[in-house]
Amino acid sequence: MLSTPHLLVGATVGSLSANPLLAFLAGIASHFIMDLIPHWEWKPSNPMYVFLAFFDFFFGAALLFVLTINSSDPFLVWAGAMGGVFPDILQAPYYLLHRKVKVLEPLRSFHGSIQRYKVPIYAGVLTQIVTLIITSWFLTR
Ligand SMILES: [Zn+2]
Repeated sequence: MLSTPHLLVGATVGSLSANPLLAFLAGIASHFIMDLIPHWEWKPSNPMYVFLAFFDFFFGAALLFVLTINSSDPFLVWAGAMGGVFPDILQAPYYLLHRKVKVLEPLRSFHGSIQRYKVPIYAGVLTQIVTLIITSWFLTR
């Protein structure tokens, strides 16, 4: 799944958490649950995709900032959001530097194994747009 929905879902579960640590952990859990949903994504395997991955992340962060600018507890929101993208950040050495970090390989293997349900772009992006609409509503209510 793309970074923007991971950020917003993480922020949503984070906003329901009791403290920033739990918000971060709930964000991590949300990442893996969201990756189980059929979706479309790209791997940052060339400079253009790396640029798009960074754009996706910063677009999502800017959107989250705008949506939650009046949040009563921004620490919970942002801790959850960072947890929501943390599993993908841990894969950065592999995709950006083409380095396998031994301690992270089991996580990368698990992460890849749960994403079995790749779908065509129109359906895979639709699931993420629906996710953005629902989480945007929740975060701004
Ligand atoms: Zn993922």
